[in-house]
Amino acid sequence: MLHGYVKAGEIDFAVSLFEEMPEKDLVSWNIMIDGYGKCGKCEQAEEIFERMSCRDVVSWTCMISGYVFNRRPKEGLDAFRKMLCSGIKPDAAAIVSVLSGIADLGFVEEGKWIHAYISRNRIVLSSGVIGSALVDMYSKCGYIEDAYGVFTSFASRRSVADWNSMISGFAIHGLGHRALEVFRDMVRMEVEPNEITFIGVLTACSHGGLVQEGQFYFDLMQENYKLVPMIQHYGCMIDLFARAGNLKEALGIIENMPVEPDTLAWKAILSACMKHGDMTVGEHAAFSTIELAPNDSSSYVLLSNIYAKARRWDDVAKVRLMMKERRVRKIPGCSSILVNGKIHEFLVGKDMDLRYRSMILQKMEEVMCRLKLAGYKSDLTQVLLDVEEEGKEILLTHHSEKMALAFGLISSNKVVPIRIVKNLRVCCDCHSFIKLVSEVYNHQIIVRDQNRFHHFKNGSCSCNDYW
Ligand SMILES: [Zn+2]
Ligand SMILES: [Zn+2]
Repeated sequence: MLHGYVKAGEIDFAVSLFEEMPEKDLVSWNIMIDGYGKCGKCEQAEEIFERMSCRDVVSWTCMISGYVFNRRPKEGLDAFRKMLCSGIKPDAAAIVSVLSGIADLGFVEEGKWIHAYISRNRIVLSSGVIGSALVDMYSKCGYIEDAYGVFTSFASRRSVADWNSMISGFAIHGLGHRALEVFRDMVRMEVEPNEITFIGVLTACSHGGLVQEGQFYFDLMQENYKLVPMIQHYGCMIDLFARAGNLKEALGIIENMPVEPDTLAWKAILSACMKHGDMTVGEHAAFSTIELAPNDSSSYVLLSNIYAKARRWDDVAKVRLMMKERRVRKIPGCSSILVNGKIHEFLVGKDMDLRYRSMILQKMEEVMCRLKLAGYKSDLTQVLLDVEEEGKEILLTHHSEKMALAFGLISSNKVVPIRIVKNLRVCCDCHSFIKLVSEVYNHQIIVRDQNRFHHFKNGSCSCNDYW
């Protein structure tokens, strides 16, 4: 009964039923923790967890996955550690949860430790989910070769989920050809691809700029595998054409597809318009996105950027007013970097850790100087506000990834790449800035943004400036 209510999302009914139970067994306690976690109420889940007199591996796993599910990966990781300390051995579900939390955080150290734990305890990777969770963790932390290493280590026992993780991994790293190679291997091994496989394959084509291949696999999934494309597949195709500058084709798909376009589809068009400078279509795409998701600040920002690029400052002001009236808040950019085993976060508009502040600002000044000598000019269209040119430059300088990068330059050894994780999309200015830093300072830089990885080296980026 309890389980039924929780499953139906009737958490309030479940609570009263639970509290009235004269004798609560372990299963009901666990159901409640799980239920609270799934409806976003971590605090209540913690409360139940604290009240338990004895906990089993399921109680801990529900708590860990609750944190991870609610995008609180750090707490999930802490809970995992506490579980080990209390002498409870994690099961596959706990390991998968904590790996996905680490993938969210984006820093590999903890993931390597879990990987070692798996090997030490002889936990078999072919148990379905752990293998693909490891592949996923390594690729989302930017260690694509390690992901591939794990993937090849259980060659004979792979499930379709394992293949899918590897294909998506290569895709987000912009390694389109390698993703397709894995797909072809999968077909050779007679593993039947599913819808998710093709999302990976098509993403690989769009991120790798492989237009013809994308079209080929889009047809193949329908003709050979009789799969009906979903909105995500159409989204990939729209993205594929839009990035390549073929807006007409992209718009044709939006108009003719049998499903309603979602915000991602319109955003793909919007980003392409920004890149290729098409104001009219861009404006239309922006308004369509805003209509579908009026609370999502990123579409307003893109619209405002489009106007700013055309120097239509009145319209920029209108967008800002619209955001204010609708109480839409811009998500502050946040970049994190791992230095000496500690994650440091840089948040736009929030003051930095005082211990490092002056050091970072000083480094930033030096970087700016050296970059300007190398021909860098700030791309002032990337600023939302209509402020004086000089003020704009200061706003741009303070983008979180630049701060994180300055800190990275101070604290890292040249042989290891600087790794930064950013919560939003990297803006054009930061992108060209980082490219130039990788050249001038001869330092490899890897940035994970909202959508993909950018590997910066010798002044160019693996995304080929398509992102
Ligand atoms: Zn930026
Ligand atoms: Zn890039």
